[in-house]
Amino acid sequence: MPLLVMKFGGTSVADLGRIKNAAEKVKREVARGYDVIVIVSAMSGKTNELVGWVEQTSPLYDAREYDAVVASGENITAGLMALTLQEMDVPARSWQGWQVPINTTSQHAAARFMSIPRDNLDAKFAEGFKVAVVAGFQGLSHEGRVTTLGRGGSDTTAVAFAAAFAAERCDIYTDVDGIYTTDPRISTKARKLDRIAFEEMLELASLGAKVLQTRSVELAMRYKVRLRVLSSFEDTDDNSGTLVCDEDEIMESKVVSGVAYSRDEAKLTLVTVEDRPGVASAIFGPLSEAGVNVDMIVQNISEKDYDEAHPGAVTDMTFSCPVNQVARAKKAMEDARAAGKIKYEDLVVDTDVAKISVVGIGMRSHAGVAARMFEALAKENVNIKVIATSEIKISVLIDRKYMELAVQALHDAFELEKVA
Ligand code: ADP
Ligand code: ASP
Ligand code: MG
Repeated sequence: MPLLVMKFGGTSVADLGRIKNAAEKVKREVARGYDVIVIVSAMSGKTNELVGWVEQTSPLYDAREYDAVVASGENITAGLMALTLQEMDVPARSWQGWQVPINTTSQHAAARFMSIPRDNLDAKFAEGFKVAVVAGFQGLSHEGRVTTLGRGGSDTTAVAFAAAFAAERCDIYTDVDGIYTTDPRISTKARKLDRIAFEEMLELASLGAKVLQTRSVELAMRYKVRLRVLSSFEDTDDNSGTLVCDEDEIMESKVVSGVAYSRDEAKLTLVTVEDRPGVASAIFGPLSEAGVNVDMIVQNISEKDYDEAHPGAVTDMTFSCPVNQVARAKKAMEDARAAGKIKYEDLVVDTDVAKISVVGIGMRSHAGVAARMFEALAKENVNIKVIATSEIKISVLIDRKYMELAVQALHDAFELEKVA
């Protein structure tokens, strides 16, 4: 039997009416002859509420218990979706992660898939069930504990199932009708793309475009999953939405193909750290052990370079991390200082920053993108605090209050509203 994976995100299962609407889409595919694995998210707002409860209870929470709490949102939707399908005479059964089982690493709140054995679901399909509804975002560690895959993780569950079950396609139903040149909620000029290359989507996702979780794109690229993003709010057919595919399947040839932003950034500066070999390792080692995801790093040049003549040279070290990890980062630095591993005068935290990035595979062969980007921001009087570049992206950290303005200015500057 041909098989499809259909994933419904939070707003697509926000209430019983929306679940029914999603179930109708599933029923249609069953009527066309498919077995379907449905991956569901928690109802919209539920995961945030659960995270809030955890943080209120324990600011530096034990990640095992965080996972025990936040994974529960998906369980409710999975059961409700199965019931809704049954009411429509579609034989369906729900599955929590541990029941499949979805085996993951034990990195709580950021677990990765190890294996998804097919036996249990295959046996149910063989019994005549047409739909397996699987709770997204969650898994089981080898210690037997519930894990979660990081925010937005249901996308990754969907792609992992599509790969494990050799699905014909993995359809991600969401509240927009595809992938745009930038978040359509930020810029009215954003343009829907028919296709986007895996590499570009990977960068956009990792730089903040939350329409797909980064890891889901990585997996789709690795296992050659046909991945599509489309709307659960509209009538859709086999050509709807945006296909994420290989570079050589793309007709457009823009240097920059998208603008991403991330609102939840913080910038931390360690003032006057020693400028000597080993200092970066003494700073970023403890941060990594504390589970802080450091993103951009800038080490200022000290006035006198470290050498035998200037053993007392000092510098400042700036880095960025997600804003909700600032408390962890501060504690890691204070503990390292108390233990005598690092020295610094002050730790300055700026939580009002955002990261804006332009992405495009065309950057590999075109110069001048950075200059054009900085010029567009300068015209709007937006000050750049930190810059980072890679082969196909340029990112800047700016004051959060200019975030929307910067996204729009860059969208204009690179003429993304126009088809190439
Ligand atoms: P779901 O709950 O279905 O998983 P998400 O909220 O995680 O949905 O992702 C969909 C959202 O991603 C859209 O509502 C949109 O605001 C945002 N988004 C950000 N960047 C883009 C982009 N380039 N194209 C489309 N949507 C984007
Ligand atoms: N419910 C989880 C979240 O909000 C997972 C997901 O929806 O993808 O992050
Ligand atoms: Mg999502």
